[in-house]
Amino acid sequence: MWYSITMLKAYRYRLYPTEEQAVFLNRQFGSVRYVHNWALALATTTYQTQGQGITRFQLDKRLTALKQELPWLGEVASQPLQQALVHLDKAFTRFFREKKGYPHFHSKRGKQSATYPQGVKIHWENDVIYLPKAGWIRTVFSRRFVGTVKTVTVSRAPSGKFFASVLVEDENQVPDAVPETGERAVGGDLGLHDFMVLSTGEKYRHPQWLERELYRLKILQRRLAKTTKGSKNRAKLRRQIARLHERVANRRQDFLHKLSTDLVRRFDTICIEDLNVAGMVGNHALARRIAQSGWAEFRRQLEYKATWSGKHVRVIGRFAPSSRLCPCGYYNRLLTLADRQWDCPDCGRHHDRDILAANNIKRFAFAKHLTGRDTPGEPGECPLVDERRKP
Ligand SMILES: [Zn+2]
Repeated sequence: MWYSITMLKAYRYRLYPTEEQAVFLNRQFGSVRYVHNWALALATTTYQTQGQGITRFQLDKRLTALKQELPWLGEVASQPLQQALVHLDKAFTRFFREKKGYPHFHSKRGKQSATYPQGVKIHWENDVIYLPKAGWIRTVFSRRFVGTVKTVTVSRAPSGKFFASVLVEDENQVPDAVPETGERAVGGDLGLHDFMVLSTGEKYRHPQWLERELYRLKILQRRLAKTTKGSKNRAKLRRQIARLHERVANRRQDFLHKLSTDLVRRFDTICIEDLNVAGMVGNHALARRIAQSGWAEFRRQLEYKATWSGKHVRVIGRFAPSSRLCPCGYYNRLLTLADRQWDCPDCGRHHDRDILAANNIKRFAFAKHLTGRDTPGEPGECPLVDERRKP
């Protein structure tokens, strides 16, 4: 009935270091960055002169020598420095094997971090985390976890806030998947007009605050563009923008979690479209980007939550604009983005375009599940587009 799987889960906590600890953490980040850039330069030269990369083993040995030369590297915790080499090694592997981009140098400007593979201690009752050489740092454990800690990554966001991200390996009991009947299935149409419209007719609006925050963001960015490089005002605006980004991200995450949890609880199968949705011309680029990243995150949440509770997520490709196809087989070629509703001239059905799309997504997802094809071939169940009927 139940089987167990190991899962990696990340828990993120805000850290409240003392001023002294903050100074130390910044030095730790600086040392990690230094080692990363040093190793990247070394690997690049080796590659250019000898035609081959440098091994982890060689890098480890060189790091030991480097620490003799630069005593200040010995004043911070050493594990994050070694971990920087592990990360770089992985980046090179991705570059060579998966043809991903060449690893790049880390700048003072970007996100600063240090990863501890071990040596971190947690004291739940006192709300403190121990980091080697930095000591016990105050935090607030919003939620506890069970399982084995794999790594702890401490970082400073551009807003200046410190965080600890704890990667935990947890053995979980997962129920057997429930059978798919179609009765407890739902289709969902993701869009810019509403975040999601369900085949049941329910509509989930984009959070009210989103537009307001985006507007504020635009204003701040415009102001930033007018400041001079290196000025105090520019730095201040940067921080404000970073804080706003953070707030938007947190609240959005909240919204997505609520919705995905709710759907997985209510339905056995959730059908959605692939998220590279076209047909969003005329919308502001920023809004589109944010919506798109929201959908990707939403799908990720849906999928893992479904797995945990033995439910299903079915994703179909975007093979036909689903808001145009009436269940009777009529295909509305003239539908524009501005038309929210339409009437089928063949069968007289009245359609809300998004609810229709959600229902079609559900039908097609099930047909794909049964036939293994993206275009369903069951005339009675899912009629194909009839060429002759196109106006
Ligand atoms: Zn019709």
